[in-house]
Amino acid sequence: MTGGRLDGRVALVTGGASGLGLACVERFTAEGATVVGLDLGKPEEAFPGAALLEADVRDEEAVAAAVGQIAAEHGRLDVVVNSAGVSGGGVVHALDTAEWDRIIDVNLKGTFLVAKHALRVMIGQQSGSIVNISSVEGLQGTEGGSAYNASKGGVVTLTKNMAIDYGRAGIRVNAICPGFIDTPMFRAVMGSGNMTEYREQYRELHMLGRFGRPDEIAAAALFLASDDASFVTGQAIAVDGGFLAGTRTGLSDLIAGALGITRSAAEGDPA
Ligand code: NAP
Repeated sequence: MTGGRLDGRVALVTGGASGLGLACVERFTAEGATVVGLDLGKPEEAFPGAALLEADVRDEEAVAAAVGQIAAEHGRLDVVVNSAGVSGGGVVHALDTAEWDRIIDVNLKGTFLVAKHALRVMIGQQSGSIVNISSVEGLQGTEGGSAYNASKGGVVTLTKNMAIDYGRAGIRVNAICPGFIDTPMFRAVMGSGNMTEYREQYRELHMLGRFGRPDEIAAAALFLASDDASFVTGQAIAVDGGFLAGTRTGLSDLIAGALGITRSAAEGDPA
């Protein structure tokens, strides 16, 4: 394809076999990038049109080898999306320390390790864009969030620090903070325990009245990865259907008629 927004670029997407990472793999490939997905062991068909590297983002040797292989094969690394992640957590007094470690290790340390080795290539070429997938839960507390929210808050702060440290090397670093997006992780969380009872309440927290789609996050990642965002760095951009806009009591429904609102709240809802 010619005229793509990522023509000639080489991109690494962690967690690229599922959910938001997979959506980035598909969109970036369609926009002309050479895309390498990195994930835990997955069948090859999980990477449509993209190369597959198997690595655990917690394993520094494996991460270094994967980045080294990309640099050797393609001569550069222009874009990294850190999407590998796990959910979990609980209220602090009842949280197993091993569970805390697991979540922090994948979500925060994994982001650090991939960035660390990618930055060495990007510094050499004096250019690059890193997009870290944080969460609305990295910008505010949520019930039982603990380790997950701490990991995602850490990703936001790490993003800002890296933007400061590497801006003059031509490297931009930003985070995306998604609302609740219909992915395998989302379905697993929403289907677990008594979470199904709270599903509608979570949907209602999004001011657009619906959950998000993976392609809506990939569109934001594409913007941050591309030259369209050439003056954007150090940002944590919420792509959240209005989750962080404020609280909604439903009072505005009383005047909805006067506003001429006729659409169903759930229009476009993927889940
Ligand atoms: P997903 O569908 O589960 O995809 C995540 C991928 O990362 C999976 O393929 C997973 O493999 C892989 N992964 C997990 N641990 C890894 C490790 N140690 N090394 C390498 N790969 C690993 O989840 P998603 O919803 O797309 O989430 C992507 C990112 O967005 C995560 O960081 C998540 O926290 C964040 N996020 C998601 C939402 C949402 O509503 N979906 C909202 C805000 C933020 P396995 O399946 O084998 O574990």
